[in-house]
Amino acid sequence: MKELSSFAIYVHSPFCLKKCPYCDFNSIVSNNLKTDQEKFQQGLQKEIAFYSSLPFWKERACTSVYFGGGTPTALKTETIANILMTLNSNFTLANNAEITIETNPVTINCGVDYQTLRALGFNRLSIGAQSFSDKKLKQLGRLHNATDVISSYQSARKSGFENISLDLIFGTSEETLAQWKNDLIRAISLQPEHLSVYQLTYEDGSDLYNQLKTGEISALDDDLLATMYKSTQLILTEHGFEQYEISNYSLPDKESRHNLNYWARNDYLGLGPGAHSFSVNGNKTAPFGLRWANAKLLSAYLSATEKLGSAKFKEEVLSKTEVLTEIIFLGLRTINGVNLSAFEKIALTSFRQKFSTLIPSLVEQNLIVVHENSIAPTTRGFLFADYLAKEFVNSLG
Ligand code: SF4
Repeated sequence: MKELSSFAIYVHSPFCLKKCPYCDFNSIVSNNLKTDQEKFQQGLQKEIAFYSSLPFWKERACTSVYFGGGTPTALKTETIANILMTLNSNFTLANNAEITIETNPVTINCGVDYQTLRALGFNRLSIGAQSFSDKKLKQLGRLHNATDVISSYQSARKSGFENISLDLIFGTSEETLAQWKNDLIRAISLQPEHLSVYQLTYEDGSDLYNQLKTGEISALDDDLLATMYKSTQLILTEHGFEQYEISNYSLPDKESRHNLNYWARNDYLGLGPGAHSFSVNGNKTAPFGLRWANAKLLSAYLSATEKLGSAKFKEEVLSKTEVLTEIIFLGLRTINGVNLSAFEKIALTSFRQKFSTLIPSLVEQNLIVVHENSIAPTTRGFLFADYLAKEFVNSLG
């Protein structure tokens, strides 16, 4: 049997205590969380049994498990424990596997037990802080305030979490550069190992999008957003963080291994409603790789796992051009850049020769840097990552 590389597992818990007005994730507010989470746990256990019966997933090491959502800590700690134990007994989790759970600071008030989570084997926590300004948190429709963020963080530290990430959002209506810098400084003062910093996006159909359309709120102008982005890069790097992806910063060796796995186009198995999976090896009919998604609605997910074990809903067989496009787009998101050998193995042509006019022009503009086996964005290039990727893809031919 061909030796298979390691892979990552993502578990999607869709439950949230309230729907945030900017959110377009697959999240729901259950009227009966107690019953729904029991059914969800059973569905996941069926799905885990299904995939772990396949040698393709069973006979290889899983190096990262990520519980995301939704708000996974809206589940009872006992439910989380049952899911993690089922994963552990059905797959081969590597000894040093990164095991992350996302948490919402408000769940600190609802009894989330970080000490038990740590004892269960979770070794990385991603806290959805978003801001340290109560006014901004209210604008974002969050249920927590700045004090909850700090209590949540301190409680996690006391419980033994040595790898904590904070999520922050910038670009809310009327936010000033000074206010954003204050958020960054307060986050840094807590001394997390990792920060994910996202620009607020107005997703079509979300409440914030509708408020924007009716003129109730206004979006910040692009120049201010770009200045906020550049200030983030400057302030965080001055404080010892390395920007390793468009929106992600970490202390040395504290990058999210789970996300690096996505961007490097390694295999991952997504479990839970709407979760996505990817296999680079594909199969005989998909030599360039396979992507699939689970049924998104909880009810559809539950009935599919009940009947079939799997909730696979749609599958996409990748073409050669799609793979090359992905290698470029994902590569230019990260400091590791586009892996030239990976590209050339599929394209059967030299990357440097193929883009012999474009590369010097982008280097000249200080947007990319050329290494022996990669082409990576510069600090300035991160701001233009999408533009850069489009330039390369348009010249793919
Ligand atoms: S807590 Fe996160 S997943 Fe849940 S509604 Fe808010 S933004 Fe969406």
